[in-house]
Amino acid sequence: MKVVTTLAELWDIRKNLPGPVGLVPTMGYLHPGHLSLVHTARKECASVVVSIFVNPAQFGPKEDLSRYPRDLEHDLQLLEQEGVDLVWTPTPEIMYPAGFQTWIQVEEVSKPLEGALRPGHFRGVATVVAKLFNAIQPHKAYFGQKDAQQAVVIRQMTGDLNYPIEIRICPITREPNNLAMSSRNVYLSSEERRAASVISQALFAARDAFQNNERSAGRLRNIMQEVFSQEPLVHVQYASCADPDTLQELEIIHDRALLSVAVFVGKTRLIDNILLP
Ligand code: AMP
Repeated sequence: MKVVTTLAELWDIRKNLPGPVGLVPTMGYLHPGHLSLVHTARKECASVVVSIFVNPAQFGPKEDLSRYPRDLEHDLQLLEQEGVDLVWTPTPEIMYPAGFQTWIQVEEVSKPLEGALRPGHFRGVATVVAKLFNAIQPHKAYFGQKDAQQAVVIRQMTGDLNYPIEIRICPITREPNNLAMSSRNVYLSSEERRAASVISQALFAARDAFQNNERSAGRLRNIMQEVFSQEPLVHVQYASCADPDTLQELEIIHDRALLSVAVFVGKTRLIDNILLP
């Protein structure tokens, strides 16, 4: 496994990688959710490239950039075990040199949900992913359903900008108590970790109602809110039932829906979702 930082080193190795080349973009502090993406890429591609970059551009001024967890040495051990070919660990100065002024803005699907609460977040995500695509030129790129709106934004950008890249979205990996795995789970105290299990319980309660033929999106949103109201340590930012393609809130579910939630557990912000059916 090669580990490189500069663009020149990256290009030098990339040009000799056999295709198809799969890219797994990450912010590091890797957990089994990340590794499931790497595993899928390893099965589907001749070469696997992983990027590790905590992207300052996707953090708001009051968010957790400075305390975002990092452990490069451990990440590299895990990636070596997964048989990764190349790891790119650019610095912020490489990605955003002085004078940087070009940004990718995906308009409509960036607006609701996360976009409404985290202004500029998807501009940062779309820009860094475009830069990763340009630098690495993968044939396939792997993202997690965990970040459902991010997946929609990246699919839209990939089509709009004519990237010849297949976007693969992989299922959410969960802890034994069904908490979606996240690098940010490390922030949770044991009490908060217990309380956070209400997130999947809320989603599962709404899914159960859907499976019992409830088709009112408002009713499913209420069911999620009711479950959350039983856990005082959790503060809900949104509990949404939206169209999975446009991310607009639904009134009636005709065929598919995305149930998605964002909550604070103490100071830690967590997101999760389920696709219906
Ligand atoms: P991050 O390092 O949080 O930016 O995540 C890197 C990639 O891993 C993104 O595409 C995430 O959606 C994906 N990912 C993070 N957590 C999970 C999880 N629990 N299950 C599946 N994919 C995940």
